[in-house]
Amino acid sequence: SSADNIIDGKAIAETIRGEIKEECAALLQSSGVTPGLAVVLVGNRTDSATYVRMKIKACEEVGIHSFKFDFPSDVTEADLIAKVAELNADPAVHGILVQLPLPGHIHEQKVLDTILPDKDVDGLHPLNLAQLAHTNTHGSSRKFDLKTLPYHAACTPQGCIELIERSGTVIEGKEAVVIGRSNIVGIPVFLLLMQKNATVTVIHSRTKDASAVCKRADIVVAAVGRAEMVKPDWIKPGAVVIDVGINSVDDPTSKKGYRLVGDVDFAGCKAVAGKITPVPGGVGPMTIAMLLRNTLQGAKRGLSGGNGN
Ligand code: NDP
Repeated sequence: SSADNIIDGKAIAETIRGEIKEECAALLQSSGVTPGLAVVLVGNRTDSATYVRMKIKACEEVGIHSFKFDFPSDVTEADLIAKVAELNADPAVHGILVQLPLPGHIHEQKVLDTILPDKDVDGLHPLNLAQLAHTNTHGSSRKFDLKTLPYHAACTPQGCIELIERSGTVIEGKEAVVIGRSNIVGIPVFLLLMQKNATVTVIHSRTKDASAVCKRADIVVAAVGRAEMVKPDWIKPGAVVIDVGINSVDDPTSKKGYRLVGDVDFAGCKAVAGKITPVPGGVGPMTIAMLLRNTLQGAKRGLSGGNGN
């Protein structure tokens, strides 16, 4: 229950970015290739523009080329899909990222589904999610290495796994509970933990007695979108708690009038957990690091001529 049981996502993400920078330099040296990420931004949402700026800056820092494409908010679905097709065919582009959300008149999944799975560095294409479930893809050794997957796994879920492992927890053989079953977070986290040989239970909105189920877990990953839902009496003493949630709650004492909290009651659960991630500063910083790593891996796979798709 002291500061030293907090998992520092900022520091771990920084370490990973350093590793990626070295690998990009080595790749350039050995084969003259610089990984390339294309980022498509539609409209003028300030939050989306901020995320895109952060991603492009992160690319620059590690030695990944970035290509930015801006479209007005009234762009047609056909024009967006045509841009994606062009990027699919461009050999300098190893990763394509369409910043979400898209304006209401555009069918988001339809656009995402046109990205080649090999260039889908967000890992949101249904084929990439399916690859994660397809155990034959990973061989019979049950060794599952995120850095050498032949396809792209979703970024935030990969970030959760890295936080667990790099803070010193072996996943194999553990009892894990994932709260939430979205395509973007809950389901891929469940699949990653299972591939890492944990025994995994998924809690969702129809689960009876979620607190009792959660209390069995050595590892808890919460991805619900409900402020501070997970209470101290849900947590087995010593468990590792990863909080994916980002919720804004009113706070008249803060300058902005609100503050961000996770899906976990941090102050309460910190006293019970073995290790726990804060919000912000836990899972958040990992997502961009995993995007960079997927782009680098995409460039490397392109060179070896092989891929899982
Ligand atoms: P979704 O809303 O898509 O999914 C939420 C899931 O939680 C659903 O599966 C839902 O169950 C389940 N759920 C809802 N209420 C309950 C309940 N009372 N008890 C148990 N389960 C419940 O959210 P996302 O997965 O997209 O995101 C989850 C959180 O993570 C959000 O706060 C989001 O902002 C954050 N996030 C953070 C990221 C980061 O980089 N740090 C990236 C992505 C998301 P059911 O399926 O039955 O409806």
